[in-house]
Amino acid sequence: MDKSNPFTHYYAQLLHQGNMLQDHVRTGAYQRAFLSNGVDFKGKVVLDVGTGTGILAFFALQAGAKRVYGIEASDAAEIAQALADANGYTRDQLVIIKGKVEEIPMIPEKVDIIISEPIGFLLVHERMLESYAAARNRFLKPGGLMMPTTGSIILAPVTDDVLYKEQLSKIAFWSNDNFYGINLTPTLPAAQNEYFSQPIVGYFPQSSIISPHRTCHTIDFSVVQPEELHKFDVQFKFKIDQTAILHAIGGWFDINFLGSAEHVQLSTAPDCPGTHWYQCRLLLKDPIAVNKGQTVSGTMSFTANDKFSYFIDLTAKLDGTDVSCTNRINLHDQAYHYLYAGVS
Ligand code: SAH
Repeated sequence: MDKSNPFTHYYAQLLHQGNMLQDHVRTGAYQRAFLSNGVDFKGKVVLDVGTGTGILAFFALQAGAKRVYGIEASDAAEIAQALADANGYTRDQLVIIKGKVEEIPMIPEKVDIIISEPIGFLLVHERMLESYAAARNRFLKPGGLMMPTTGSIILAPVTDDVLYKEQLSKIAFWSNDNFYGINLTPTLPAAQNEYFSQPIVGYFPQSSIISPHRTCHTIDFSVVQPEELHKFDVQFKFKIDQTAILHAIGGWFDINFLGSAEHVQLSTAPDCPGTHWYQCRLLLKDPIAVNKGQTVSGTMSFTANDKFSYFIDLTAKLDGTDVSCTNRINLHDQAYHYLYAGVS
């Protein structure tokens, strides 16, 4: 190991952090949001929750912040410090503190702005929004600014026969009654549950959405309490605009930076440039055949779990009939599906 190079020790962190930095849609949106709201940042004290390599802290300093406290739970804290030193930022301008934002002792002052990228698949995976809200409760001055300020989970009904059949074919393996002389079929119901409990992470085309309607569940980071993120429901109702098979509820999110000068949105919608969050589809175990003009309604109940993620209990029903489907999705157990390249 090359001891003279401080970064050699942090190879795994560099790979992980580098993936996020190279998502130019994400990283560019954050820089644009801060620089276009220099009026908010100028001369202000900022807290960066989960500073990683320090990139958002550097953007806040570029936007005119007087001082940034960069809190980071992992070894990436040392990368941020080394990058700050190498880029000429003093330890008064960027104060790196290693630890969890919920657990570190008080910082020397309350802050004017909290910045963070506490986002996972479908907005809430990783459960870091709870840390972002906890940081606000501990360290933000009254009337201070959260950047991003809000985030929305957006849902739409999706048809995709190929995707559905791909999942079925994975399950079909377990229907073998003579696998090297062993009958595997008793596993079949469990296998079906398991494969359909995986959220499908990947891009999907706008053309697979079968309704003009969207459901939007907005979380206001200025007020949401960590406990409110432990359990919440999202109700949906979609009028279907073509005769089709409903295979999944598709989901994505946007985050919004509501600065005084500019409102900047980072959207991960199917018709927007791709990001490392892709989109997400939650499959129905039993697809629902829908006629043009019918409506589908239901609920997605999010329950936080100890895997830094959520169980999502999905119910969808065809209104005016007794056709319905329920499914429990483990948001932490993603199946990746990158066949469709998306827009970028
Ligand atoms: N801000 C950086 C990194 C974002 S990834 C960027 O935008 O590129 C989120 C970071 O938050 C990770 O480095 C993770 O280690 C850190 N983190 C997660 N939970 C945390 C917590 N409770 N307290 C402090 N850091 C946390």
